[in-house]
Amino acid sequence: MSSPATQLAVAPDGTPAFEGTLYIGGQWRAASASRPVLNPADGSEICQVDEASADDVRDAVAAARRTFDAGEWSATPVSERSAILNRVADLLQANRSQIARIETLDTGKTLRESEIDVDDVTSVFRYYAALALGDPGRLVDAGDPAVVSRVVHEPVGVCVAIGPWNYPLLQISWKVAPALAAGCTVVIKPSEVTPLTTVILAGLLEDAGVPAGVANLLLGSGAVVGAGLVASEDVDLVSFTGGLDTGRTIMRTAADTVKKVALELGGKNPHIVFADADREAALDAALTGVFLHAGQVCSAGTRLLLEDSLHDEFVAELVRRAELIRVGPGLDPSSEMPPLVSAEHLAKVEGYVALGLQEGAKLLTGGARLSADQAGYFYRPTVFAGCSREMRIVQEETFGPIVTVERFSSEDEAVFLGNDTRYGLAGGVWTSDRARAHRVAGRLRHGTVWINEFGPYLPQAEWGGFKLSGTGRELGPSGLAEYREAKHLYENT
Ligand code: NAD
Repeated sequence: MSSPATQLAVAPDGTPAFEGTLYIGGQWRAASASRPVLNPADGSEICQVDEASADDVRDAVAAARRTFDAGEWSATPVSERSAILNRVADLLQANRSQIARIETLDTGKTLRESEIDVDDVTSVFRYYAALALGDPGRLVDAGDPAVVSRVVHEPVGVCVAIGPWNYPLLQISWKVAPALAAGCTVVIKPSEVTPLTTVILAGLLEDAGVPAGVANLLLGSGAVVGAGLVASEDVDLVSFTGGLDTGRTIMRTAADTVKKVALELGGKNPHIVFADADREAALDAALTGVFLHAGQVCSAGTRLLLEDSLHDEFVAELVRRAELIRVGPGLDPSSEMPPLVSAEHLAKVEGYVALGLQEGAKLLTGGARLSADQAGYFYRPTVFAGCSREMRIVQEETFGPIVTVERFSSEDEAVFLGNDTRYGLAGGVWTSDRARAHRVAGRLRHGTVWINEFGPYLPQAEWGGFKLSGTGRELGPSGLAEYREAKHLYENT
């Protein structure tokens, strides 16, 4: 069978109709079971993909193990691995509009967001292609002229990359690019909810010249495929992005085989605005920070913390602008906020809104579907004011277009509320006083803190969580270090 990237290129209307969506040991494989992939904009079926079985899991891990142990990939000159990663980046750009369209069909997100994802993924492949080239290891002074002591870095081995449904192509690529750069082999498992662009990515890896068995792809459930991969004795590392409960389960299971685990989990991210902030810019950021991709973003600024004297005016304007946001299908260029990913997730978000009302939060706008008789999972931008720290909507990740507003009266209180979460992924602070901005940023226990900004990240800078938001880091040099073992060579000359 030809690679899905090639199959896609010849599909007359660009709608995926893949033949065989599992990729194991360099072969595309169909399974006896399949799963429909649904379009969040109207609930229709986009296509069917193969559902891997426990036997497929065993075969994929065996292929990755065999390939790693053969040693050819890790012994391939870094310059060659780097060239392959750059070719993946070229292919992503050459197929940019098709990939973005499919990401939008699958996740619902706006086409513009999908295009940004493809560009960001391209940058990540290029970044690790370059970074991999510069690792000469380290000479250590052993204090004895007869001893040459050197620390070198070697690939960890067989890695498993498990991804979430909200940024499928992006999150998987943050794992696959550094793993391949380091010389590891991988088994990739995207979310069963949004698997399509990962199938294309596996095709692009093949087309770019990643050798058979180095990158393998399994589609299917967390219970069979994900859990099977995590439990396998032949896997050396699991890198997971997803929910807290799944992360905990993975960590527990991984303990039996003492495999390395990197976890990128949820967030409940504070967005702090002081009265002396640039209000226009802070308002824009408050809106995009929470309504981008309908709030289905781990770093969404869901907890808006406003200084007393600014509160009423800021909230009134926030509500006015939230009501102007055009909610609609991702493929419609006029849409500013897309649908939620699934009926199941819509029900979860509706449950949180009902809970917020029960808890006594004041619903200022939204709190309902766009239209009750619509087939897609559209929800209105929702603002709750009068919130307090003990409310579950303030503490739990709703993963929907819901912002809760709390107020503060001092810098200390802003910091206290900013840290008043079991998560520690990201936060933002707005003030025109730079000294205060840096004081507050320094005291916030979050992996990323934005100052007079909210949302951007860079391939060169580490991304990850404090506290229950996870362990380890992606992106930056640490994102590559996750996939390497340090080895000390002590030579008595
Ligand atoms: P999820 O935990 O439900 O699923 C994530 C993946 O885990 C899926 O591929 C799923 O099939 C798999 N899985 C489920 N059970 C498993 C098991 N027992 N063993 C192994 N794998 C299993 O998460 P989701 O709903 O897809 O994603 C949303 C979550 O992801 C949110 O909490 C969000 O904050 C988080 N997220 C975090 C980041 C970050 O960078 N920190 C980025 C994106 C999303």
